[in-house]
Amino acid sequence: MNVYDAINRPSIKEGILRSLRNLSDAVRKNIENHPYLFDFADEVKKARLDVAENYDYWIDKAVRTLEEKGVQVHQARNADEARKIAGEIVGEGKTVVKAKSMVSEEIHLREYLEKLGNEVWETDLGELIVQLAGDKPMHMVIPALHYSEEEVGRILQKIGVKGKNAEEMARGVRKFMRKKFLEADVGISGCNAFSAETGRIFLIENEGNIRLSTSLPETYIALISIDKILPSDELALKSVLVQSAFFGTFPPAYININEKATEQIMHAILIDNGRKNTPYREQLSCVKCGRCQLECPVFQLAGNIWGGDVYGGPMGMGWSAVTGEMVELCFLSTLCGKCMEVCPMSIDMPGIIRSLRKRILEQDIRQQ
Ligand code: SF4
Repeated sequence: MNVYDAINRPSIKEGILRSLRNLSDAVRKNIENHPYLFDFADEVKKARLDVAENYDYWIDKAVRTLEEKGVQVHQARNADEARKIAGEIVGEGKTVVKAKSMVSEEIHLREYLEKLGNEVWETDLGELIVQLAGDKPMHMVIPALHYSEEEVGRILQKIGVKGKNAEEMARGVRKFMRKKFLEADVGISGCNAFSAETGRIFLIENEGNIRLSTSLPETYIALISIDKILPSDELALKSVLVQSAFFGTFPPAYININEKATEQIMHAILIDNGRKNTPYREQLSCVKCGRCQLECPVFQLAGNIWGGDVYGGPMGMGWSAVTGEMVELCFLSTLCGKCMEVCPMSIDMPGIIRSLRKRILEQDIRQQ
């Protein structure tokens, strides 16, 4: 689907506006009732950018802390290395349960593990719908917002789940997924924030699937993109609180704080993929709350199709550039500045988009 197809698919616009209506009030209330969240956001932004100034030091510290706890640590310079490391750990013919993770999308991990002959299941309901539909997540936090209840019903029939309404279908998926959790050899998660102080991995969720994916299988792989490294538990906790509050749920239903369980084999893959040397350093302070996407007038028309291979919307222009993709569709931005206005980290996304436009034009001139 290209951006023009997306604009002509009303379910995308309807899904985004429905989510915006449901979540805007919640974000407003979160901010009104907990004004200290702005201070948390400022602290987290400063810490992330300080870490980014000295990634080598913080990566070393993260490696040492994790290894002291018995975690097997791997470092990946790019998506290809990250996929291969994960593939070697998983092997072939395994059952893998996966938590929703943007960095796993970034490295196309599920598809790679499937090609190796593994059975891989997304365990987040929205992400499972997207997997079964062979689609791309339409929003970072609400990946299946563009599907109606009826469409979801048709999609879930592929795994034998039937139901007259959303509740019945969710119950059916829970039952289906519980068997997969028990069968799984390997569990994979991303990381919402990582504490270099203790080696703890902070993950937020509202379905309870992450704690099952990461605790039940004999082997657990945590994918940690280096922008998630923070110096302390306190900052990691503040980061996930800001992320969930500005998405619209506060406090989050579950905060998982993962470290190596005695019996479990645990691997951590620290992934750079463009972060260390990016000129768009401010983007690294993004907590991926998805607020800028829902509030953006262009995203409201075209959803995540307005973006790069993985990341879309205003934040997606910056993240795509960080991970090595210059999105020419950045010329469709209105530069209205709404994204920066609603961003808890006040990231200058219009500034990033203007800089991208300049670079794309310069590239064009060089190629002529
Ligand atoms: S750029 Fe800001 S608003 Fe957008 S996802 Fe990141 S933190 Fe949230």
